Amino acid sequence: TVSPAVVADRSPGVRLDDVGGLEDVVAQFRDVAVSFRHPDVMARWGATRPQGILLYGPPGTGKTMLAQALANEIGGELREIRTPEILDKWVGNSEKNIQRIFAEARHLREPTVLLFDEFDSIITYTGQAFDAAGQMINAVAGIFKQEMNTLIAENPNVIVVATTNFPDRVDASLVRSGRFDLKLAVPVPARRARADILTKLLRGLIARHETPGFRMFADDVDADALATESPGLTGADLKEALRRAQLDKAMQEARSGAPAGPITQADLLAALTRLRS
Ligand code: ATP
Repeated sequence: TVSPAVVADRSPGVRLDDVGGLEDVVAQFRDVAVSFRHPDVMARWGATRPQGILLYGPPGTGKTMLAQALANEIGGELREIRTPEILDKWVGNSEKNIQRIFAEARHLREPTVLLFDEFDSIITYTGQAFDAAGQMINAVAGIFKQEMNTLIAENPNVIVVATTNFPDRVDASLVRSGRFDLKLAVPVPARRARADILTKLLRGLIARHETPGFRMFADDVDADALATESPGLTGADLKEALRRAQLDKAMQEARSGAPAGPITQADLLAALTRLRS
């Protein structure tokens, strides 16, 4: 493993097809995956494919999911680095942690998406114990730039994805072209995107849980109508509403011992209302 800051894969089966809305971002990710799988064609044309991607947007909009899906599309694995956890208040430790992560990444032979989440922390991080905080911030960001350049030059197996909720805080020189070639917004979904997300979440649940003898959702469930009733909610919120409806049904059945019947549109509307209040 890269370091204790690495956490396990979250949803190893997820594909770009499962990402709702975000058509432009998904199209760009497909292109990254295609170029990754055809290094020979890239080389013949002297083309360089993106090796660094910055995803920015509010929490719960699908950034981590996109990184996981990209890893799956390239037949590789996701290594997730919680950026704040590699930052240390002792001078030099943050730099060492970054160097260790990149040193290991340079030797990876498997296709890998190296994900740095909460990436803005690398800039906003201040070693509070020191009054020369500015100096330290620069050192940490400087090491990251240097390490990323070396990695890009030496190991085509790795794609670096950084995510942030605060793009304004990410230093421009850190993400300038050549390091993060793609900077993509991942916004809160609009109505049509919410409908697409709900359709895909429902499709996934049905595929995983329905059997010939078990219906999870009633015929009246209508993703479009649910999308209309869920302004401002993110994909993570929509997933949470479904999760609560599932739990309600399961508890009802577990308590009574009798089949609870499928989740209806009214059940889902109630779950969305509870979530919004
Ligand atoms: P954070 O900034 O807090 O890390 P994030 O943008 O990385 O959030 P995810 O962790 O990817 O958000 O989203 C949480 C879950 O919500 C996903 O695993 C997925 O199930 C669901 N989800 C979020 N956005 C989408 C989407 N666009 N399409 C389908 N599912 C989504």
